[in-house]
Amino acid sequence: MKFVIVVGDGMADYPLEELGGKTPLQVADKPNMDWIASRGRNGLLKTVPRGMEPETDIAMMSILSYDPRKYHTCRGPLEAAGMDIELGKEDLAFRCNLITEEKGIIADYSAGHVTTEEARELISAVKGAYGHLGDFYTGVGYRHLFVMRNAPRGSDKIKTAPPHGIVGERLSEHLVKPKNNEVAKTLNEMILSSKQILSSHPTNITRVKRGRKPANMIWVWGQGKKPRMETLAEKYGVKGAIVSAVNLVKGVGVCAGMNKLEVPGATGYYDTNYENKAKFGLKALEDHDLVFIHVEAPDEAGHAGDVERKIEAIENIDSRLLAKILDGLKDEYAISILPDHPTPIKVRNHVSDPVPFAIYSTGDQRDAVKSFDESSAKRGSFGILEGYKLLDKLLQL
Ligand SMILES: [Zn+2]
Repeated sequence: MKFVIVVGDGMADYPLEELGGKTPLQVADKPNMDWIASRGRNGLLKTVPRGMEPETDIAMMSILSYDPRKYHTCRGPLEAAGMDIELGKEDLAFRCNLITEEKGIIADYSAGHVTTEEARELISAVKGAYGHLGDFYTGVGYRHLFVMRNAPRGSDKIKTAPPHGIVGERLSEHLVKPKNNEVAKTLNEMILSSKQILSSHPTNITRVKRGRKPANMIWVWGQGKKPRMETLAEKYGVKGAIVSAVNLVKGVGVCAGMNKLEVPGATGYYDTNYENKAKFGLKALEDHDLVFIHVEAPDEAGHAGDVERKIEAIENIDSRLLAKILDGLKDEYAISILPDHPTPIKVRNHVSDPVPFAIYSTGDQRDAVKSFDESSAKRGSFGILEGYKLLDKLLQL
């Protein structure tokens, strides 16, 4: 038996006036998602536990059978896993953004989407100045990593702020807290003084000349230690592989003991290579039991408030990825399609409402649901399910 999970990031939505009171999933042409829903069983999945933030890593942990309330330790260590960075038990991994600071205000959490090539130069300068405090790793674009090895005492008490949540606000109000904590003091000195090093860096001087925002400060946040997760092989005896362009998502898979596949042309954006994701996913099924394929594009469209792009991303997942997977599956298999969380066009951010999910399994019964969408799923035979129980249903335990 082979198992496949396809996640369209942020696919679920709210009804929209411009779509005649329908959601993007309801108006999109998606015969393959509907095939799974109408031949299989459906329900709503609570991927974000009450009281937790509707972030992708939390939802992904749920989908992969780990209750985030027990296992989630923040995004830093998950991104580290996705970047092949080994963490010791006492190491503390932070996300390290390159940001734009203007007159004491956080002007841009992404430093005008600084490129990876530029970031490599800038992070190298940061490394030169603060390498004694920890290890810096260049990631993708504005997203990098900072690891304090054998984190000093008191580091478990500090609180940091995600920069995308405080754009336009005074940075002095959002520095690492509590202010009298020694680790917080060290980190705040590093953040504040990074401005001198970065604003005078030739890469930023060139950016400013070209009318781009300078990546003139680092911002550390999302810190945590390596989560202690039993692997899927230990839990269920299945060997898994994960396909995603996003380090954070890959990292959840790696912590679950899955092999991460590098897929050429996977960008994490609208232009991603859907066909290659399907091709590499199917190939991986030859020597894995479970393949998890993640597509970021609908979430990007949700954040941009772009309804056309969102519908297009859903249709691309259906015709260019899911169709090929269904074509390539032979013999006994079970497949599930779902989003991780909604990223509604109106909200332009993640929300924690339960998401529709459908599972088709060869030989299993079907329920009365005919279409894959937010409202049809409510009538599915699974009812409302806790996110971390999805895998039990897929594996039919
Ligand atoms: Zn997401």
